[in-house]
Amino acid sequence: MPNSTHSLFQLVLTNLVVLFLIVSAQQPQDTPIARFQRYLRINTAHPRPDYSSAISFLESQALSINLQVKTLEFSPGKPVLLLTWPGSNPSLPSLLFNSHLDSVPAESSKWTHPPFFAVRSPDGKIFARGAQDDKCIGVQYLEAIRNLKEKNFAPVRTVHVSYVPDEEIGGVNGILKFVASEEFRKLNVGFAMDEGQASPGDEFRVFYADRSPWNLIIKAKGMPGHGSRMYDNSAMENLMKSVEIISRFRESQFDVVKAGEAPNSEVVSVNPVYVKAGIPSPSGFVMNMQPSEAEAGFNIRLPPVADPELVRRRIAEEWAPARRNMTYQIIELGPLRDYMGRPLTTPTNDSNPWWPIFKQAITAVGGKLAKPEILASTTDARYIRQLGIPVLGFSPMKNTPILLHEHNEFLEDTVYLEGIEVYESIIRSLSSFEESSSY
Ligand SMILES: [Zn+2]
Repeated sequence: MPNSTHSLFQLVLTNLVVLFLIVSAQQPQDTPIARFQRYLRINTAHPRPDYSSAISFLESQALSINLQVKTLEFSPGKPVLLLTWPGSNPSLPSLLFNSHLDSVPAESSKWTHPPFFAVRSPDGKIFARGAQDDKCIGVQYLEAIRNLKEKNFAPVRTVHVSYVPDEEIGGVNGILKFVASEEFRKLNVGFAMDEGQASPGDEFRVFYADRSPWNLIIKAKGMPGHGSRMYDNSAMENLMKSVEIISRFRESQFDVVKAGEAPNSEVVSVNPVYVKAGIPSPSGFVMNMQPSEAEAGFNIRLPPVADPELVRRRIAEEWAPARRNMTYQIIELGPLRDYMGRPLTTPTNDSNPWWPIFKQAITAVGGKLAKPEILASTTDARYIRQLGIPVLGFSPMKNTPILLHEHNEFLEDTVYLEGIEVYESIIRSLSSFEESSSY
C-alpha cells in the first residue's frame, strides 16, 4: 500500500472509531438505572398525565421479560395495566404488587433540574417528579421479576403487578373501579403490597393502615344586623363559637402528638382550610353590617382506630349544632371500614400469615424494619383493604429524605438498586408460601 493511501486509510479508520465512540455514548444504555430514568421522563403529572406513554413503556418492559399483559379501561382515558407471572399452583390466592401511574404536578422553576429530565447528579441522585412517589416501586417490581427469571426462579403463587391511574386525585376512576371489577375478583388476591414512604433512618418503614380523609363544611345562619348592634345568634358569632370549639379539639389532639404519646398518624387531625363570610363591596366588604350567613371548611383525617360515629356525633352536637343555627356537610373520601365492618388495618403480627414471611424476606437481605406505622396521608391501599385483603404499604427507601410532593424530589441510585434486591427477596418468599389455601 503506498504511504499516502496508508495514512488516508488510517485517518478514515480513526474517524470511524471516534464516530463509533460518539454514537455508542449517545445510545441510551439498557441498565436498571436507565430504565428507571426512562419511566421518570414520561410526564404523568396532573392535570394532564400522559398515561398512554407510561403504559406502552411498561408494557414493552413486561413483554421483554415474558409477562402476560392486559390493559383494562374502566373510565375513558384512564387505563389500568395488569401484568401477570403465573405460578405453578394457580389455585392458591395470588399476590398483587400495586403502584400508581400518576404524580402530582411540579413547579419547574423551583427545581434545580427539570422535573421530567431524570438528571443523575455526580453523587448519584436521580432528580424527578415521581422518583419517590411512586415510580421507583413501579419499575423495581419489574426489575426484581427480571432478576428472578434470570435465576430461573419459578413462583408457586401467581404474581400480579398493577399500574393504576389517578391515585393522586382520589382514585375514584382508578383503583376504586379496578377493585370493584370482575377482572379483579378473578385475580383471587390473597395479599397485596402498595406504596409506602421514604425513611430518613437506617430502617425500612412499613405501613399497615392509612388515615381516612373527611372534608367538613359548617354553615351558620343568623339575623343580619347593623354593625353597631350587639345581639345574640348572629351568623358570625355562631360560626366563631364553632371555630373555637374545633380549635380546642385540634389542640387536644396535637398535645398528644407534642407530648410524644402518639405519632401524628394515630390522632384525629382537623385543620381549618377556609372561611367564607361577609358582604362584598367594591372596596372589600361591607363593614357596618353583620352578615346572615357564614361558613368554614375543615380537613379531617381519621386513623382507623378512631370511631367515626363518635366524630360524627361530636360534629352534630358540638361543632355544628342545630341549636346554634348551624348546619354541616361531611364529605367522606374513601372507606373507613372493610366489607365486614372492621377497621381498615392489616395485622402486623402472627395472626397475619403473610407478616412473618414479609419480615423474614427483609432480614434475608440484611434489612431492618422500623415499627409498623399508620400512614398519615392516604393511598390506594385502603380500597384493597376494604375487600378484606391484607395490604402492606412499603417503598424500600432508607437513608432518604421524605420528598414526596416536594420540589427537587430525588432518589439515590444505590438506594434504588438496593430496593430491587429487597423486592427480589419479597417476591421470592411470598410467592413460595404454600400454606393454607384460605390465604
Ligand atoms: Zn403515591
